[in-house]
Amino acid sequence: MTEIVIVGGGIAGGAMSIVLARAGIEVVVLERSAAYEDRVRGEWLAPWGGAEANELGLYDSLREAGGHTITVHTTYDETMEPAHAKERSFTLETFADGIDGPLCLGHPASCDLYERIARDAGVQIHRGVSAIRIEAGIAPTVHYTDADGEHTLRPKLIIGADGRDSTVRRQLGISHHEDPAHHLFAGLLVENAAAWPEDHQAIATEGDMSFLAFPQGAGRVRLYAAYALQQKGRFSGPDGPQHFIDSCVMKCCPDAEALSEARPAGPCRSFKNSDTIVQHVALPGVVLVGDAAGHNDPLIGQGLSITMRDLRLVRDALLGESGAERNWPPRIFTDYARDRRERLRRLRLAACLQSRIEAEFGDEARTRRGEFFTEMETNPLLGAGLTAALGGPEAIPAEAYDFLESAFDFPAWPAWPLDPDA
Ligand SMILES: Cc1cc2nc3c(=O)[nH]c(=O)nc-3n(C[C@H](O)[C@H](O)[C@H](O)COP(=O)(O)OP(=O)(O)OC[C@H]3O[C@@H](n4cnc5c(N)ncnc54)[C@H](O)[C@@H]3O)c2cc1C
Repeated sequence: MTEIVIVGGGIAGGAMSIVLARAGIEVVVLERSAAYEDRVRGEWLAPWGGAEANELGLYDSLREAGGHTITVHTTYDETMEPAHAKERSFTLETFADGIDGPLCLGHPASCDLYERIARDAGVQIHRGVSAIRIEAGIAPTVHYTDADGEHTLRPKLIIGADGRDSTVRRQLGISHHEDPAHHLFAGLLVENAAAWPEDHQAIATEGDMSFLAFPQGAGRVRLYAAYALQQKGRFSGPDGPQHFIDSCVMKCCPDAEALSEARPAGPCRSFKNSDTIVQHVALPGVVLVGDAAGHNDPLIGQGLSITMRDLRLVRDALLGESGAERNWPPRIFTDYARDRRERLRRLRLAACLQSRIEAEFGDEARTRRGEFFTEMETNPLLGAGLTAALGGPEAIPAEAYDFLESAFDFPAWPAWPLDPDA
């Protein structure tokens, strides 16, 4: 008998299904796509997310599937000599116990891997499904269509893992708040960049753009670019991907010369950077995980790590409920709801800070950045954004977030109370 239906078989859905199947729960996954493709998503797992994946028993599989570890970070900036930027480089090996640094693996490759492991663990996965219809409540129901026709499942619980535009969330009418966009954020995978140092990640800001580079091994580098909202369409059209690559070859970052021969190895897409938050992560018969439950600004690359933490907390909630009936009422997700709310609050502040540093352009912003880098040498709180992104929301003291909230004029979030049972 199907105990749990997971809608969405991406990172959150695929990984969740493995964790639950290994715990002896009967799981069905419904995934819209027939094959995983590069949709320009997260491919850099922060050290703290690596530790979470390790706890879930997934980290070694990611490494064995080709996950590439990065051990050094450098921030380059037009206000700094490249040699000085290199001197400020730091090692990434110290941010989470047992994790050597961020792990990079393609999003489609990760989803393929999770699907394979899940099937081996006994999960039923239906690909190419459409017309999902959800009914929540004490007898949750999922209707869907596939090549064989229409189907209805009556599990004990539905897990909404269907990404940032979640149909599960929308169908349940769960309120969803999106911050005003601060900048645009585009991504492109490139190949033929073998001269990029394989163990180095970088952020570089020059002129009207900053870029982030995360090597994946074998000459592949995942590039992201942040630029002003007014430049919508900057990388669209047939020349967009090449223009993207050319824009990354910045003088302030000597390593970027390695990108001058690079070729696009996937689509180039752009997104608003905005964080989002949802009013409820759990209602009777349904719980949301991953981006469906609200997402962080991709500038600081936290979505995969946030998802891994979600899965651990939801797993613990499900396995902790006593009784053979396993009815899983929403109150078991109270700790998850509370942790997620505070986690997103903290990571949002970290992202807002990084956005001010890395994604504002023009003369004033340049001067501010120069002052910021100088001040950072004596005020470690100004490095809080990067530290939280690498070490996790608990890597800096709670008061540091209060400082960020009071020192900067970041947009307010809705004052929603926690979930009804919290
Ligand atoms: C540009 C960009 C860069 C990013 N960079 C990073 C990074 O470097 N590091 C990081 O940690 N995070 C990053 N993220 C965030 C990260 O990609 C997400 O947090 C992560 O993919 C969330 O996983 P998910 O499974 O919730 O959603 P997804 O990975 O989007 O998966 C959702 C799945 O649900 C399926 N689905 C959707 N609707 C339906 C439906 N109606 N029925 C059935 N199936 C459905 C989809 O086909 C998909 O397979 C980035 C995001 C963006 C946009």
